[in-house]
Parts: sequence; C-alpha cells; structure tokens
Amino acid sequence: ADTDHGAAVVAAVARVADRIADERAHLTDLDSAIGDADHGANLDRGFRAAVERVEALDDPTPEEVVQTVGTALISEVGGAAGPLYGGGFMRAAGTLDDGITAESTVAFAETYLDSVRDRGDARVGQKTMVDALVPAVHTYKKSIEEDGLDPLTALAKAVDACRRGVAFTVPIRAEKGRASYLGWRSVGHPDPGATSTLCVAEELLAAAAD
Ligand code: ADP
Ligand code: MG
Ligand code: MG
Repeated sequence: ADTDHGAAVVAAVARVADRIADERAHLTDLDSAIGDADHGANLDRGFRAAVERVEALDDPTPEEVVQTVGTALISEVGGAAGPLYGGGFMRAAGTLDDGITAESTVAFAETYLDSVRDRGDARVGQKTMVDALVPAVHTYKKSIEEDGLDPLTALAKAVDACRRGVAFTVPIRAEKGRASYLGWRSVGHPDPGATSTLCVAEELLAAAAD
C-alpha cells in the first residue's frame, strides 16, 4: 500500500510541475511587477528537476518522493523561494513515514508551514507565501480535527482558504523579500509566492481527487 501511495505522490509531483510550467509566464509577470521577474522561471526549473528525480526512483515511499522534491527544489530554484519551498518539503517529508492518512497529512501541512515561517520569519500580513499558507493549513487542520471532514473535502476547503489568502496579498504592502524594497508601490499586486503556493495546492487537490 505504501508503494502505491509512492506512485500516487510521484503522479502528484508531475501534475504540480505541469501546472507550474503552464503558469511560468503568469508568475513571471507577477514577479516583474514587484520583484525581479524570475519566480516563474525559478519554480519551473525546480519542479522540472523534481519530476526527473522522482521518476528515477525505484518504488519509492511517499517520504522518499517528498524528500527528493525538497532537495531538487533547494538545489535548482534559488532565490528566496527555493529554500522556502525546498526546505518545507524536506522537513515535512518525515511526517509521511507511516504513509498518507488524514493525520499524517495534517502533520505534513503544519510542518511545511513551520519550516517556511522558521526560515523566512514572515508573519501573516507581510505579503508573502505565508499569507496563502496560514489560512490553508489552519483550514485543513480544523476541517479534519474539529469538523470531522474527510481529507478530500478538507483539502477543497483549504484550497478555497488559500485562494482568499492570495487575494488578501493584493491590497497590502510587502514587508519581506525583494518586494519590500518597493514599499507602498507593492500595493495592488498579488504576491508571486502566494500565487504559486495556490497553484501547488490546487494541483494537490486535483491529484487527490483522482
Ligand atoms: P527572489 O525574490 O529571490 O527573486 P522568487 O522570485 O523566486 O525569489 O520568490 C519570491 C517570493 O518568495 C515572494 O513572492 C514571497 O512569496 C516569497 N518570500 C520572499 N521572502 C520571504 C520570506 N521572508 N518569507 C516567506 N516568503 C518569502
Ligand atoms: Mg524573484
Ligand atoms: Mg531572484
């Protein structure tokens, strides 16, 4: 069963990579408005490498797949987002050591968020990927642990919360990363990293629904 989940996680990674490739120009446009116009290219390069590496693994566990994605992103993405994305997946991989369950996916989401916050030191309201992650992760955890929803319904709610988190980044001023150099001129644009985080979350939902 574990190896079946491994193959499913490989398929999910491929799905995320395809979406990021499709969004490359859009993410680049967003990053050209408030950054250095490389977020689309950075992530596309990273997820392409991630797919290559995970597809080369022999009968991997979910933990091995996610660990491999994390190391690929750290080595290929660069910039601010590389260590945040890659470090998040690397640290969260260990939560899947007993496979993919409602409980382990909550731990996965929380550990990923903790890693991003520890590395980036951003709070909600500073116009970063944290603004997309916090509502998504909290909604997923609450939906499962308090509302007793099944993981797929919980993930759908989390994606909706993530989308509202991206919208929340539009009217606020960046206080972290390159966009913070613009000060008030960063207002009125969605954060690229929050937007790419939503793309990843949407594809994980689509993969889980398959
Ligand atoms: P760079 O800014 O180095 O060119 P990218 O363009 O790939 O890197 O990524 C920019 C994204 O990284 C931002 O849109 C934001 O979401 C995220 N980011 C930057 N700094 C931080 C931080 N300290 N904490 C969380 N996220 C951050
Ligand atoms: Mg950039
Ligand atoms: Mg850059």
